[in-house]
Amino acid sequence: MQRIVVLGGGESGAGSAVLAKVKGFDVFLSDNGLIKEEFKNLLQKYSIPYEEGGHTPEHILNADEVVKSPGIPENVPLIQQIRAKGIPVISEIEFAGRYDKAKKICITGSNGKTTTTSLIYFMLKNAGLNVGLAGNIGQSYAYQVATENYDYYVLELSSFQLDGMYDFKADIAILMNITPDHLDRYDFKMQNYINSKFRITRNMNEEDCFVFCADDPITVTELEKIVLKAQMLPFSQEKEVKEGACVKDDKMHISYRSDEYTMYLRELALEGKHNLYNSMAAAIAAKAVNINNDLIRHSLMNFNGVEHRMEKVLKIKNVLYINDSKATNVNSSWYALESMKTPVVWIAGGKDKGNDYEPLYDLVKDKVHTLICMGLHNEKLHECFGDKVDNMVDALSAKEAVELAYKYAKPGDTVLLSPACASFDLFKSYEDRGRQFKAAVREL
Ligand code: ADP
Repeated sequence: MQRIVVLGGGESGAGSAVLAKVKGFDVFLSDNGLIKEEFKNLLQKYSIPYEEGGHTPEHILNADEVVKSPGIPENVPLIQQIRAKGIPVISEIEFAGRYDKAKKICITGSNGKTTTTSLIYFMLKNAGLNVGLAGNIGQSYAYQVATENYDYYVLELSSFQLDGMYDFKADIAILMNITPDHLDRYDFKMQNYINSKFRITRNMNEEDCFVFCADDPITVTELEKIVLKAQMLPFSQEKEVKEGACVKDDKMHISYRSDEYTMYLRELALEGKHNLYNSMAAAIAAKAVNINNDLIRHSLMNFNGVEHRMEKVLKIKNVLYINDSKATNVNSSWYALESMKTPVVWIAGGKDKGNDYEPLYDLVKDKVHTLICMGLHNEKLHECFGDKVDNMVDALSAKEAVELAYKYAKPGDTVLLSPACASFDLFKSYEDRGRQFKAAVREL
């Protein structure tokens, strides 16, 4: 019997172990840290042996294949030992893809993945298709492949998952954009990160579709160097495209094969330039799976967005409070600020990942009158923005930040939490930060 060893006992690892078991492999799961109760219960339910709090090499180096969770970096000694023995290391998505005949719509990019994935899922669901949602979102793909039988999957793929993919093939691959991120995992070489993102196009042939942003310089430069067999479907806000999506006269135009579809930008439920990209990519994917225009329109008009991404919380005394806690890098906060149509009280800061704030300078000068720095170390924000806003204050909690925002906001303003930084100095996660922000707003 072939032996599969799964490394990592979180959502992805536990799901992979269940699938391996269901498919008749000898399975063992190993986690360096502690495994959550819910996943231990799942492993016990399927009688899967596991260990936690460390790895036992004898139980691992006898594997025929290793399924590695995306969070485990390549350079840890155990992975190097596995590689040295010539044991193949794959990702959960590669493993589960072998047992899944569904049509797969896969989304990657530096920003916008979750929003676009959720929007496409919403569209396919509204169209009555038998569709699953997986990848970096919700229940693991492997677990669903083991227990469900969908005709379609919408999969959000991170570069770490793509790194462990070889034979997997997307029917529709969407690359939202590429901006520097996670470079610590790519030997600080941008090209390695780009190559990783482009793995989403592996194995695609003439019947498959590649949806990409024609306004993204890195994507476009890379496409000049490679040849893809898939049908190329660009989206752009800057130029016209023959097939794909573009903007003309305040309308979004989608063309696919000989069919054309238009919709006013003001009808779109998701606001802002970044979300227009997300809506365009989603609309192309929907056309490529033959969803009719009325259903596409209805979905694009009624999608409520995803928590912590430009999420409107409340309007109090004519001041709108927006939770964009997921904006953990400068690029996402750029899009958030860009979409602001009123004066802004901006709450930013947190754990800085080596940010270069320069791209934000003009937007901040134009739109932000008060900057509330919410972090343990706010010196860099003070240095970069001190001369660009009228007013700058520090806060050490979401509650304090919201109370200060309430004090300084004037009717008609927007209070925007869009930190451009990770959350780990004051919060457990970006979700925790967003929830504390919303709770504080509701207490005002
Ligand atoms: P991801 O899953 O790739 O992290 P999300 O959809 O969760 O992306 O959005 C993360 C943040 O990035 C949001 O807070 C939003 O402000 C910003 N964002 C969303 N879509 C885009 C886009 N297409 N381009 C740039 N920034 C975006």
